[in-house]
Amino acid sequence: MARYTEAACKLCRREQTKMFLKGIRCVSDKCAMERRNVPPGGFGKRRPKMSEYAVQLREKQHAKREYGLLEKQFRNYYKLAVKQKGITGENLLRLLETRLDNVVYRLGFANSRREARQLIRHGHFRVNDRKVNIPSAQVKPGDSITVADKSRKMTRITFALDSSARGEVPGWLEVDPDNMAGRVLDAPTRDQIDLAVQEQLIVELYSK
Ligand code: SF4
Repeated sequence: MARYTEAACKLCRREQTKMFLKGIRCVSDKCAMERRNVPPGGFGKRRPKMSEYAVQLREKQHAKREYGLLEKQFRNYYKLAVKQKGITGENLLRLLETRLDNVVYRLGFANSRREARQLIRHGHFRVNDRKVNIPSAQVKPGDSITVADKSRKMTRITFALDSSARGEVPGWLEVDPDNMAGRVLDAPTRDQIDLAVQEQLIVELYSK
């Protein structure tokens, strides 16, 4: 399966934002954005003035990298978003946010989306009591996400639930850490999606 092989911290430095791609390391003083907050490529702090296209491109790259997707996968989400009713940019973010790997991460069962993807592929989660090992599976309101019985004592999951890397669980989800269970309460609204991108710039880029 195709995947990113570039160093995660380099991606954060490129987008000049912390994307929390490496779990617990991201909240430690080892974070590359804390130690060396300059874009890769030798420009140092001097960033050349960006064209309109470059600004749009950076927003798209930021969103794509935050969710750990490749270009083709990301563009397919855009095509789906265009077909839905409503604002295309918000549809796009909602589709990304309701991927199972993102939901597992947001619920605090993994310290990064990357880790969530690996845990899902290895069969550690159930959706509505059924084994799902596809990280891109979409969840919908009412769905329950639980840790498989055999995986409840798994250190990576218990550590993630206790870890300081675990941020606030967004309002469209609820988590019951004692029972290692979560539920999708609603579809996320834009203000519930913690992602600092201007999605309309991504739409402008793809609409050209
Ligand atoms: Fe980004 Fe995490 Fe690396 Fe910091 S440690 S630069 S937040 S991936």
